[in-house]
Amino acid sequence: MLESQLQRILKNPELTVDEKEQQITQFLHSLPGKGVNEIVEFIINTNDGIAANYLANYLSILPNYDQNKRKIVEQAIHQKRHLLSAVVNLVKDLPDGLLDQLINAYFQNPSSSDLYNIIFEVAQFFPEKLHKFDDQIEDEYLRQAILTGGSDRWVDELVRKYYEDQNPQHLQDLAWFRTDKALDALLSLAPTVPEEDLEDVYAYIESSGVFPDTRLASVYFENYRGYVVSREESPHHMGGSFPYPVPKCPFTDTPANRILSLDTSQLDLDLESPHNPTFFWYEGEHPPDCIYVQFTDEGIIGLMTPMTEGEVGTDLIPGELALKLEEYPCKYGRGMAAIPGFANHQVGGYPPLIRFERFPRCPICGQGMQFLVSIDSGMTPFGSLGFTGILYGFWCDPCSVSCTYGQTDE
Ligand SMILES: [Zn+2]
Repeated sequence: MLESQLQRILKNPELTVDEKEQQITQFLHSLPGKGVNEIVEFIINTNDGIAANYLANYLSILPNYDQNKRKIVEQAIHQKRHLLSAVVNLVKDLPDGLLDQLINAYFQNPSSSDLYNIIFEVAQFFPEKLHKFDDQIEDEYLRQAILTGGSDRWVDELVRKYYEDQNPQHLQDLAWFRTDKALDALLSLAPTVPEEDLEDVYAYIESSGVFPDTRLASVYFENYRGYVVSREESPHHMGGSFPYPVPKCPFTDTPANRILSLDTSQLDLDLESPHNPTFFWYEGEHPPDCIYVQFTDEGIIGLMTPMTEGEVGTDLIPGELALKLEEYPCKYGRGMAAIPGFANHQVGGYPPLIRFERFPRCPICGQGMQFLVSIDSGMTPFGSLGFTGILYGFWCDPCSVSCTYGQTDE
């Protein structure tokens, strides 16, 4: 049943890769138990890497099912190494022991491309696990990833190099650590850098956890991972209708979508505002830079944006959905620049930026706004999200102001 439907979609020459992914996701999600048991059975018995890849990617956007995800990767590492790169998106859900097996397998055979894809994923989600292999890593991306949470000795070394040659790359390298030591180094180097590098250094400091002017926190300590689920599965709503006017495009009147409303009573973020933050976005010929709104007892006020009469966009979020959040300890955040399109949604923690940029300022009080959410593009069990890149949501708690802005990798 699974096999024949899958082949019918995969062998259809009329379909693009995205359409295949969409149809396979829709089909699997309609199966009893979301198709999970059949998927595990199929991947364990197949040698078809392409089919296994579509199935594993679908499984990776479902919350839970950790045992099933683990079983697939175990099978690949012990019996079918050629399927390892097909199941790479399951790596972020694996327990420590299995990650160690994958890491060891890579360092026994660092030229294997299947294992490189795996280790690349490990480096993004568990950069600190690679620290002890420092002297065996030559690949430039992996070398950058292991800076996250890296040792004080490495920080001292980079500072020494910067004093030696003033190469601004060393400053950016310091931005990846997110340790107190690296943050202190950036703060003390800032007054010494050339004028033209100063904005960059301020961006590095903000993404390392504080605002350079006030030294107040720029991020929230708790880190959650998000999965797009049906409306009744989580109090953090996405898409659908909204009870107030929403921002709209000043040129085309395109109404914004409600990307996400957080129910902060269900989260451990130490917020004091009585209002739940909502983040809005629209796309089109005149995409916004930032969308700011303020939450009040009377409703929502658009700041520097016109608002609709009440209509709301529904083109970016495929349905009346929600974001299920799980605590995901990630002390120093993810390694490397974020790669969009893999449904890696996050609340709290350090922002998974595609490139370093300064955080927005609150239009009411002028203070830096704290990073609160990132919503990735890519597939959901209900269809694709309708934007590209990653949307980032920032919050000014004293003023109850949200700001949404986007980055793409283009
Ligand atoms: Zn403010």
